[in-house]
Amino acid sequence: MAFHLVGMGVSRGIAIGPVHVLHRGELEIAEYHIDARDVEAEIRRFREALEIARAQLREIRTRIPENTRADIVEFIDTHLLMLEDSTLTVAPEYLIRSQQINAEWALKQQRDALVEVFEAMDDAYLRTRKDDIDHVVTRIQRILRWGGEAPSESTTTALLQGAIVVADELTPADTVVLQHQGIAGFVTEFGGPLSHTAIAARSLRIPAVVGVHEVRRLLREGETVILDGRRGVLVGDADTVLLEWYRERRDAERSRQESLARLRAEPATTRDGVRVRLLGNIELPEDIDPLMEAGAEGVGLYRTEFLYMNRDDLPDEEEQLEVYAAIIAHLDGLPLTIRTLDLGADKPLAGSERHALCANPALGLRGVRLCLHEPELFRPQLRAILRASAMGPVRIMLPMLTTLEEVRQVRRILAQLQRELDDRHLPYDPSLPVGGMIETPAAALLADRFARELDFLSLGTNDLIQYLLAIDRVDDEVAYLYDPLHPAVIEALHRVLRAGDRHGIPVSMCGEMAGDPRLVPLLLALGLREFSIHPAALLEIKDCIRSLSLPERRLPDHPDPDEILDFVHALAGNGESSA
Ligand code: PEP
Ligand code: MG
Repeated sequence: MAFHLVGMGVSRGIAIGPVHVLHRGELEIAEYHIDARDVEAEIRRFREALEIARAQLREIRTRIPENTRADIVEFIDTHLLMLEDSTLTVAPEYLIRSQQINAEWALKQQRDALVEVFEAMDDAYLRTRKDDIDHVVTRIQRILRWGGEAPSESTTTALLQGAIVVADELTPADTVVLQHQGIAGFVTEFGGPLSHTAIAARSLRIPAVVGVHEVRRLLREGETVILDGRRGVLVGDADTVLLEWYRERRDAERSRQESLARLRAEPATTRDGVRVRLLGNIELPEDIDPLMEAGAEGVGLYRTEFLYMNRDDLPDEEEQLEVYAAIIAHLDGLPLTIRTLDLGADKPLAGSERHALCANPALGLRGVRLCLHEPELFRPQLRAILRASAMGPVRIMLPMLTTLEEVRQVRRILAQLQRELDDRHLPYDPSLPVGGMIETPAAALLADRFARELDFLSLGTNDLIQYLLAIDRVDDEVAYLYDPLHPAVIEALHRVLRAGDRHGIPVSMCGEMAGDPRLVPLLLALGLREFSIHPAALLEIKDCIRSLSLPERRLPDHPDPDEILDFVHALAGNGESSA
């Protein structure tokens, strides 16, 4: 009988494959109940694991060179003895039988009980025996999990190929690595639809569901599951009819995506002739290929923080310049909008203690605040961007602005760096456009003033919605409050778009809201003419734009929720989009 687990679908697509529970750092233990009829088999599995552990230790013992210190041999002998001791052999079997639980769980319970006893002892020597228990137990747990082989890089990759990865939480960097290893989809216990991990999943086209509490306990390694990233559902124990139905849907979705490819070279123009610019969001230089394939008109958001994540050192000016230069060359004359480092909140810098200490990182030193606070982080990047601007059309974009003083400070630093480059006879574009992201309520309220001091604006709706509605974008408990149609959001968008008009500067939208086909008619009606979206959604949004005519009807100036919904529904009837 099929069972369904429900979470939040954050990246569309259907994936079908075996579960691979991701164990990060420490070995995590799967805990599940078993049927009465499976008890004997589970005990056999446990005994076999013990036998393999003994064989491994005996083998290791034979490899110890003769002149080695005796206590090393003793150490191994102790472990061998423990593998004969009833506390680690008989007691777990009793737990498997009496509680009808898997061997790993039984062993873990027994380990915890033993450790408690050792920790209560006064004798320091005996207390250290706790480590021996852990070594032996971990050896058995690994065998239960992987058999006699310790997981090497290649076995892990083999396990990941085509798998549905199940984890507590993933970082955006994990997501990128997992995609390279060929996973079919992922599900996490925590996380929200606007987390960078969710965004990375969408742009990497990995079907994903987040916020499925307890999922690691509910699914077993290797069992086949269906993941529906649009509906946010996982289906286990599906029969062949259901599996076939999902396979057909998966294939239909793939062919629909393929058929959109015909729009690649077509302009994003509405049926009544309004031209819209479609730009792409990228995180890594590799994202340029799919972006060009989708026919984007440039990069509207390059999230440079990914250059800094997943490593121990910082990229210097030359390394950054090299990366920017490669992207510019690939873009072949199309504009590149480089967003300066937006570290902090859900994108911590590796090894940054400040982040761990910060009680509320989303309201802390992130984005441009962090950069202005740490010039050694900021200046090399600004210099690299300036130098890159000599190689092609580049724009610089500042994240997390809340005050005009931040813009002025950055402009002062840029002027100083330009003088330094002049002294070094290094070229740059003297009229490099400097734009800002409108993603805090303060920036939205002061959009008119920001528009006066900046060359372009970009609506970062992921953060704007988070801060306007006071909902943490990575907290699944409040994800239900995420509402791009909230009147406060609509008012903010209105305000910013009008400010752009009044000051004659472009306003784009680079938050996820711009990639939602259902919202395109509304955004066009509000006056948005530049979208920056992940490449995976680009052709679908183009299809949508091309099937619409701009409505004659206007949204009231201060609409209430019903008026907004009414408006969206009326517009939805106006297009012929297949979206
Ligand atoms: C946003 O906040 O909408 C945005 C595009 O920036 P990020 O998602 O990288 O914070
Ligand atoms: Mg943001």
